[in-house]
Amino acid sequence: MDFALSKEQRDIVRAARKFASGEFPDRALEFDRDETFDLDLWRRACELGFAGVFIDQAYNGAGMGYLEYCLITEEFWAADPGIGQAIISCTFGSELLLLFGSEDQKQLILPQLVAGEAIIATAITEPDAGSDVTGATTAAVRDGDEWVINGSKMFTTNGNLAAYILVFCRTDPHNPSRHARHSFFLVSTDTPGFKSKKIYGKMGIRASDTAEISLSNVRVPFTNLVGEEGAGFHQLMAFFDRTRLHVCAQAVGLARAALEESIRHTKERTQFGAPLASFQVTQFKIAEMATKIRAAKNLYYEAASSVDQGTIDPALIAMAKWFSAEVALQCADEAVQMHGGYGYIDEYKVNRLYRAAKVLEIYEGTKEMEKTIIARSLLR
Ligand SMILES: Cc1cc2nc3c(=O)[nH]c(=O)nc-3n(C[C@H](O)[C@H](O)[C@H](O)COP(=O)(O)OP(=O)(O)OC[C@H]3O[C@@H](n4cnc5c(N)ncnc54)[C@H](O)[C@@H]3O)c2cc1C
Repeated sequence: MDFALSKEQRDIVRAARKFASGEFPDRALEFDRDETFDLDLWRRACELGFAGVFIDQAYNGAGMGYLEYCLITEEFWAADPGIGQAIISCTFGSELLLLFGSEDQKQLILPQLVAGEAIIATAITEPDAGSDVTGATTAAVRDGDEWVINGSKMFTTNGNLAAYILVFCRTDPHNPSRHARHSFFLVSTDTPGFKSKKIYGKMGIRASDTAEISLSNVRVPFTNLVGEEGAGFHQLMAFFDRTRLHVCAQAVGLARAALEESIRHTKERTQFGAPLASFQVTQFKIAEMATKIRAAKNLYYEAASSVDQGTIDPALIAMAKWFSAEVALQCADEAVQMHGGYGYIDEYKVNRLYRAAKVLEIYEGTKEMEKTIIARSLLR
């Protein structure tokens, strides 16, 4: 157990670990192969208070910090990345509402997320706009008391399951500043003109839903604008400063699981008359994994704690995200290697860890974008 955590935080870790290690392993292979998920698991997680613990008590949340949420995320991903992501991502967007939503929007939606009554998603990426979010062309045009939205979105997590989606739209295409052209809108997925389609065949985290979305003359009330018109880009950067912390926790959870599986397997498996763990090559791999995980963990604890204390340092958050994702990939790779041929078979957990790890370097900012943020802060 980590000495830097308070007793309350250690209790959260213990409770999350107990729930995840009790419930996830038996279903992990089935969900991975079938690309499905049982939403009852998410509801149980909500009943136990694991959903959006950073949501204020005014909206029935626990009013804790992002670090506490990360601790839960880490345990869920350590038990199984696919199920962990399926549950944890159900509040993806609540961070944005907390920061910029109107009181009515918060009162309507946040309590439903905490209670396990609704899922929220956030749709930014488009077929032709990924890393360059300012290239998003989904258009929202004002028409009397309504906004009319047209466009399409790509890779929206929970796009087929969400009741509400925060959609990043272009509202002022001719503004001289690329950073003032977009706004966020709250869209109920039962609005006429909204369609979603499941994306099959992901490399990993296959229990987590991913969708392609199309919006055709989707009309939302004027009040569904989130915060100020034209502030979408800056809102998105603030949102990522919180949600990238979750990705760090996902990475550390995954890397920890890779280490645990490697230790177990190399102590059990005998070759040349001795356990794999007795060979120095194995020992060095284990030592390197443990050291890197510790470093990644400390980096993200620092980043999450500073956000919880009100200090936002995008470069620190980017360092934590890039580094923890790299550690996760390296650890998953070594874990498969130490499992030999067994690691290549999906029945083995390390196989799912290996396939899940890659996304950590892609979503919520690719590793190249993270390094760009770090370098810019140093070179400006
Ligand atoms: C499982 C999954 C879930 C996702 N969930 C969501 C979600 O819920 N909501 C959402 O909006 N999006 C989501 N995404 C999308 C994700 O955020 C994007 O895939 C990511 O931002 C990269 O965009 P892209 O795929 O268009 O790649 P591109 O932007 O086309 O990038 C391709 C490559 O080019 C590199 N590159 C691009 N520009 C530069 C540059 N200037 N300099 C150097 N290298 C560069 C990138 O780093 C990358 O390596 C999800 C993706 C996946 C795989």
